[in-house]
Amino acid sequence: MNIVVCVKQTPDTAATVTVSDGEVSWGDAPLVLNPWDEYAVEQALLSKEAHGGKVTAISLGSEGAKDALKQALAMGCEEAILINDPAFENADSLVVSKALAAAITKLGEIDLAFFGRQAVDSDTGVTFAQVARRLGWPALSLVAKVEALDPGAGTIAVERMLGSARQRLQTKLPAVVSVVKEINEPRYPSFMGIRKASKAEIPVWSKADIDLAEVPEAALRWPEIFAPPKIETECEFIEGETAEEVANKLADRLVEEKVI
Ligand SMILES: Cc1cc2nc3c(=O)[nH]c(=O)nc-3n(C[C@H](O)[C@H](O)[C@H](O)COP(=O)(O)OP(=O)(O)OC[C@H]3O[C@@H](n4cnc5c(N)ncnc54)[C@H](O)[C@@H]3O)c2cc1C
Repeated sequence: MNIVVCVKQTPDTAATVTVSDGEVSWGDAPLVLNPWDEYAVEQALLSKEAHGGKVTAISLGSEGAKDALKQALAMGCEEAILINDPAFENADSLVVSKALAAAITKLGEIDLAFFGRQAVDSDTGVTFAQVARRLGWPALSLVAKVEALDPGAGTIAVERMLGSARQRLQTKLPAVVSVVKEINEPRYPSFMGIRKASKAEIPVWSKADIDLAEVPEAALRWPEIFAPPKIETECEFIEGETAEEVANKLADRLVEEKVI
């Protein structure tokens, strides 16, 4: 099988996000492989291990995004490609999806493209669906289990996570799959994998390399980013001689405040 996994480099989720004068800052937080994308890489690798073939990781980003691609290589992907061109500065998801779809088309004969459910920095959660739309492939979102994958018959059956329920879906390949964290446990890169990845030369594809003559302007701008308003809270201690008295007073206060 020829499998693609799209990965984004994002700040570590442990970072403290601050907003000042419209600028978002993650401080000195390290940039990492988007945590959701680790599950996508793992599922791509499991699919390859079960059915043969290769996995190519693709990222659109700065030169620094090569580190995220190296993590994907260290986990076991065979190839990695960085898409980088000044035309993609300030790209919104419409532009990013156009570039990713063009790169997938350029790779040719792809059976499956895996994505994380969302990127932890801008959180739009739409890129995979836009890529699927551009490729004309079915989009399987929020996938928590790949139940059956049959490259011979060209079909995939999955379970989607719908709140507390699950939904079974089946479709034809090629398809786009976005995964949730319930789907697997991402592996740690092996020592050999890390060594191999550290020496890997990652090709950089420009807009010309993915046959994009024109890159549209981003349709979206995000000129203003601000911290949510602070919620003022008052803390009230309810006291009483017995637990029953405290409980009764608490219930009265909750009724008074129209909480219950
Ligand atoms: C502060 C800020 C706000 C933004 N707000 C918006 C906005 O409201 N709407 C908008 O369209 N864009 C927005 N963007 C741009 C956005 O970061 C890019 O469009 C982005 O690459 C796609 O959106 P996302 O990161 O939310 O990805 P999501 O759609 O949340 O990501 C889903 C999956 O798509 C894949 N993926 C996403 N980006 C890439 C990539 N660059 N390379 C490879 N795979 C990728 C990953 O598998 C990821 O798990 C914003 C950017 C910033 C800095």
